[in-house]
Amino acid sequence: VHRNAGEEEFHQAVREVLESLGRVIAKHPHYADQALIERICEPERQIIFRVPWVDDRGLVRINRGFRVQFNSALGPYKGGLRFHPSVNVGIIKFLGFEQTFKNALTGMPIGGGKGGSDFDPRGRSDGEIMRFCQSFMTELWRHVGEYTDVPAGDIGVGGREIGYLFGQHKRLTNRFEAGVLTGKGLVYGGSRARREATGYGTTYFVQSMLESRSDSLEGKRCVVSGSGNVAIYAMEKIRAFGGKVIACSDSNGYVVDEAGIDLDLVKEIKEVRRQRISEYARRKGGDALYVEGGSVWDVPCAVAMPAATQNELTGKDARTLLKNGVIAVGEGANMPCTPEAIRTFQEANVPFAPGKAANAGGVATSALEMQQNASRDSWTFGQTEARLAEIMRRIHDSCAETAEEYGAPGNYVLGANIAGFVRVAESMQALGVV
Ligand code: NDP
Repeated sequence: VHRNAGEEEFHQAVREVLESLGRVIAKHPHYADQALIERICEPERQIIFRVPWVDDRGLVRINRGFRVQFNSALGPYKGGLRFHPSVNVGIIKFLGFEQTFKNALTGMPIGGGKGGSDFDPRGRSDGEIMRFCQSFMTELWRHVGEYTDVPAGDIGVGGREIGYLFGQHKRLTNRFEAGVLTGKGLVYGGSRARREATGYGTTYFVQSMLESRSDSLEGKRCVVSGSGNVAIYAMEKIRAFGGKVIACSDSNGYVVDEAGIDLDLVKEIKEVRRQRISEYARRKGGDALYVEGGSVWDVPCAVAMPAATQNELTGKDARTLLKNGVIAVGEGANMPCTPEAIRTFQEANVPFAPGKAANAGGVATSALEMQQNASRDSWTFGQTEARLAEIMRRIHDSCAETAEEYGAPGNYVLGANIAGFVRVAESMQALGVV
């Protein structure tokens, strides 16, 4: 603990995984040999750097950049970049730690890493975003590469930012190394269905979870938090499965629309105009209602999908959701439910899909993008989505079977932690003490 003092989110993520590992160590004590558990909790490398940039008024601004290369036992480090004022080393470490197990669960050859900056993109002009991204890459380029570390997007980093980062990488290295970043635009080496993958994948996972209980999303009232990349495409797939999304949010408030959230309007507001979700109620009129502040989890629903940020759904929110009849919860974001919230759902026997399994469709499709780049190929949307659907089904089944094998049927948290851990541990042991 003293080595990672003050890194609360990192402690929370590690504690959750370690709590699951007792059963696997009891059965296979050799996984604890050679300080494997201690090694798995220690990032292989942490890079912290200065990011100076010039704003539109000509003032020099300074932010802090991070890249935590957590574990490369299964492949090059892989994980997104987050630009948000709350970013610090503890948050990037929690995300990198989670990413290691998530990537293992996909069954693909990718290690775990995460990065970002405390830069706040809100209200920044396009030129400022570009200059920031260029400065960020001016340090990052020496630490990344197709066989070393392959970043992607996360909160505050979408297609526009990946484009500026890739452009600067190309300029600095004089190489069009498509496989160095994923989430790229289609014209310069991106994959179809990558933008949709995390939200779609989470929805596929929740649908599988419901199907295993002879139920489905058809006709269900759903609430999705956030209104960014993951939230938008979760809403799109819920609708395709016959569900009805009643509410979504941003960090200022939430909108409720009993007619069902109008996705085209959300996309125009968030993806094109980059405005706040409050605009939705103003533009839509009718019964659409905007609530400033408050919790989107007060809106009654059958299925809840937190898709904004860590610890956004508390024990109190979980009790409200239960009271309102929630029947399934799927984490689109990373660690959005507090430990108390997870316990509350599990004790009530509500199926709960942890982020490291449920939102793995994003990184899995990033690995598909790397495959397409390596073979200089470009698959159709249908082909890529079919692969994503199959991967999500496999992850669901592997979590369910592992939970069953270790005496905790229906506990997807335990199943995901153990299944991910075993794959990383097997590889680390084969590679020796490195
Ligand atoms: P975006 O930046 O596209 O959207 C984030 C959304 O969450 C916005 O609506 C934002 O609102 C809201 N939000 C962010 N921070 C907070 C906060 N502190 N409090 C309340 N709301 C907040 O990010 P993504 O959709 O890409 O990411 C969402 C989550 O999904 C994150 O946890 C990310 O780690 C996880 N994830 C993303 C993947 C991807 O492929 N993009 C893959 C796997 C996981 P506002 O505009 O007000 O900030």
